[in-house]
Amino acid sequence: MTDASRDAILVRGARQNNLKNLDLDIPLNELVVVTGVSGSGKSSLVFDTLYAEGQRRYVETFSPYARQFLDRMDKPQVDAITGIPPAIAIDQTNPVRTSRSTVGTMTELNDHLKLLFARAATLFCQCCGKPVRRDTPESIYTDILSRARNAGDPRLLLCFPVPVPKSFKESEVRELLEKQGYTRFLAPDTAHDAAPARKRGRKPAAAPPIVLEVIQDRLRAGGAERGRVLESLEAALRVGRGRVNLHVADDSDPPRTLETWRYSSELHCADCDLAYQEPNPSLFSFNSPVGACETCRGFGRTIGIDYGLVIPDDSKSLRGGAIKPWQTKSYAECQQDLEKFARKRGIPLDTPWRELGAERRSWVLEGEGAWSKGVWYGVRRFFAWLETRAYRMHVRVLLSRYRAYTPCTACDGARLKTAALLWRLGSRELGDQTLGASSRFRPHGAQWSD
Ligand SMILES: [Zn+2]
Ligand SMILES: [Zn+2]
Repeated sequence: MTDASRDAILVRGARQNNLKNLDLDIPLNELVVVTGVSGSGKSSLVFDTLYAEGQRRYVETFSPYARQFLDRMDKPQVDAITGIPPAIAIDQTNPVRTSRSTVGTMTELNDHLKLLFARAATLFCQCCGKPVRRDTPESIYTDILSRARNAGDPRLLLCFPVPVPKSFKESEVRELLEKQGYTRFLAPDTAHDAAPARKRGRKPAAAPPIVLEVIQDRLRAGGAERGRVLESLEAALRVGRGRVNLHVADDSDPPRTLETWRYSSELHCADCDLAYQEPNPSLFSFNSPVGACETCRGFGRTIGIDYGLVIPDDSKSLRGGAIKPWQTKSYAECQQDLEKFARKRGIPLDTPWRELGAERRSWVLEGEGAWSKGVWYGVRRFFAWLETRAYRMHVRVLLSRYRAYTPCTACDGARLKTAALLWRLGSRELGDQTLGASSRFRPHGAQWSD
């Protein structure tokens, strides 16, 4: 292999359709445009030769079984092609283009990616950033063994949580459990850690629900027989509806919980007590209401007021007309209000906008409260008020002058819901090789570290 072949596609003796024994080198990693008059063989070269060969070789890498489901392409009329990567083609015919089209949708790459993510991606907890996996009795047992070894094989209480439903009394639930043979419970004061505190982003319940910690088994992992532990875990998962808590207990009587190891057989972060949605391909499609960001409806951007257009010249002062829409007769009243309240608050009227400082600029834009309260209402409320009067033609015209598309603030332009963006493929090492941690995308609401 020569050096040239490593960064170029070498075509030798192409004779597809009307090509006349063409030799050429096409550089890789560059945008190459093929032009020519009608009938000169552009499509024969690009689609029937390059794309056909790239696709053909890619398909060859699959098993014969998989190949039968893929479009086969005929070998193009060419002596040799080297250095060709797998190819995708965006057809020149009938491009169904909508405002939602992307390279991903037009090449149908998105259709493959959403399947790949639904099958192969790993979910990371929004709160603690740890992978969320379904625990099985086997995986829990393995984990308990290694944790117990590190903790000096402590005394363990194998428990499962049973929330007391609103319409029941705690004693009634205890009675029901006792009928099933569950007579031992972790005393409520020692189970202080039983219900993990709901983290930020959840509405606090009026009264925290009562959760009984039912003791399934008591053991030391090092000495306990494997079969017995698995049996206990299975039973606890069954009655505890997929939840198992192992309480590390001290030797006092009744035992006090020193630490709790939580497990869940569902898509649920046991540590944060956050449940997650099952993945399906629609979750990873911004053209599906299941996956599309609710704020921008999958467009990745929203239409809003562009403050760069509202204050187009930052060398102007407030008195000098920095706020452009208020320089007309119709809204002169707003300009007077601004100057009146600015004087009250000691905001300089003759300082250029760019020298006002972030805090004062924010005061101008955000204001102090509603107009009806007789305080400074701010530029943003002015536009919100205009929106309510958009039934009038001249207001619509005015608004359109200051509107622009801005990246959606809910998804940062990713077009998908946070629930979808918490799923990731590949390793962190791979990610680091592609893009530095600081410039990588992080879903909103995820409290992850780098
Ligand atoms: Zn978590
Ligand atoms: Zn969005």
